[in-house]
Amino acid sequence: MLNIAVLTSGGDSPAMNAAVTSVVRAATHYGMNVLGVWGGYHGLLETPENQDGDFATLKLRNVLNIVDLPGTYLRTARCDEFRRPEVREKAAELLKRKRIDGLVVIGGDGSMTGAGYLCELGIPCIGIPGTIDNDLGYTELTLGFDTAVNTCLEAVRAIRATSRSHHRAHVVEVMGRHSGNIAASVAAAGADVVMVPEHPMSVQEVSEALKQQAAQGNECPIIVAAEGCWHDWPEMKSFDVAGFLRPLEEKAGVKPEDQTLPGTRMNAEYCAKVLEHMSGIEVRHTVIGYTQRGGIPTAQDNTFAFQAGALAVRLLRDGKENLAIGIKGGHVFSMPIADALKMPPRFDEELYRLINSNNKE
Ligand code: ADP
Repeated sequence: MLNIAVLTSGGDSPAMNAAVTSVVRAATHYGMNVLGVWGGYHGLLETPENQDGDFATLKLRNVLNIVDLPGTYLRTARCDEFRRPEVREKAAELLKRKRIDGLVVIGGDGSMTGAGYLCELGIPCIGIPGTIDNDLGYTELTLGFDTAVNTCLEAVRAIRATSRSHHRAHVVEVMGRHSGNIAASVAAAGADVVMVPEHPMSVQEVSEALKQQAAQGNECPIIVAAEGCWHDWPEMKSFDVAGFLRPLEEKAGVKPEDQTLPGTRMNAEYCAKVLEHMSGIEVRHTVIGYTQRGGIPTAQDNTFAFQAGALAVRLLRDGKENLAIGIKGGHVFSMPIADALKMPPRFDEELYRLINSNNKE
């Protein structure tokens, strides 16, 4: 094995660069050449601008200074064309033409699925789990999760400081459209109530949890909500925000043009307003948003990236393929991509129960 390629795909996550650096470091050690593919699977397509795909040689000197940069140096993209078999066949042909003997794919379950298909077309691939959601069932950790949680925690600490000063509650929205992992870990480490897509609650239940926190002497309860709650929870989706808020706003003399309009959908801002009226506690909101993706990788994420990148190269060198790398109990391992993807998404039910059980009478 002489030539390998590496790409980052799907949502960017901290420590993807560390994994790329590790791949180049290990490959250099074994005397292999590395090509970086720009823009995820897009870089494997022949386009009018890039008739030979979009590749760049990666030498150790090119990557040593990106090791703890946030984002992904190689860029990433959602490449919907890659879901089409004929497009993948062309990509495989291109890789063969370029004499690429193996490909390391860093991304989430979608990216790993693409890697599995490439293996079927004769391109040995190894997947490294890179997603802030930590929702791949086969591994305890995905690259970027720990950094995202720590970025959120930093925000929660700042929010707690101002909330305490004013005796206010706060709704903090974190990422996680289908996964409550970030929300649960943030709540466990620095908040009081958690709302996750995996366990729908009604607004009334959240309000009761808030009141329970206040009754226990918590003057600045913090509710962490995964963004998926607004879209996925039937109780939230169907909640008549304007029907609830408008009569109260009219009573309070809010000008008609400032009143909540019919059809308004629940989100962090409106949830805070509704909770304020339901609970009688002043509630503010903050959406942490994309800062979660752009944090400087933590030691935990970078260490896993280092181990995963090195293992990926070793596996390719040893003629192995179609494997996903994961970590369990501190041990970095690999297993068939297809088996890894069959495992249900990870969610720590015990942690969830522990957080929210403090909010029941
Ligand atoms: P993630 O890898 O973070 O789960 P996506 O689901 O958006 O993110 O997938 C990233 C990319 O992986 C897609 O843009 C596409 O190029 C490729 N991909 C996703 N699903 C498939 C699939 N079923 N078949 C082939 N390629 C896929």
